Amino acid sequence: MDCVFCKIIKGEIPSDKVYEDDDFLVIRDINPVAPVHLLVLYKKHVGKIHQLDEEDKKKVSKVFDVIAKVVEKEGILESGYRVVINNGEQAGQEIDHIHFHVIGGRKLGKIA
Ligand code: AMP
Repeated sequence: MDCVFCKIIKGEIPSDKVYEDDDFLVIRDINPVAPVHLLVLYKKHVGKIHQLDEEDKKKVSKVFDVIAKVVEKEGILESGYRVVINNGEQAGQEIDHIHFHVIGGRKLGKIA
């Protein structure tokens, strides 16, 4: 499959790994928009939110534990951070593989 994140997850493309467990891999974004810009990748290839099945949804709900761990590790747990899913074309999703941006380390402007 020609998916950049699947290739990263399989180790076929190098990445700066921050955390890994059975269902998630957390890497640093190659083009960070803030001092901390992580991508939490769901390891199974699912393109979009509405394509998650019931088992996926149970697993993906653990993302909050993963985020709590990595923001503590990165030192932004108290200062605050933003979690973003770009889902679909008009939201600017570039890579069709579910991922959560975790952005922090500076004051962020309001987007919603
Ligand atoms: P999205 O627009 O939500 O699909 O986000 C895709 C993100 O993946 C962008 O912020 C890119 O900078 C990032 N990205 C693309 N290729 C890589 C890569 N090889 N390693 C790390 N981050 C990447």
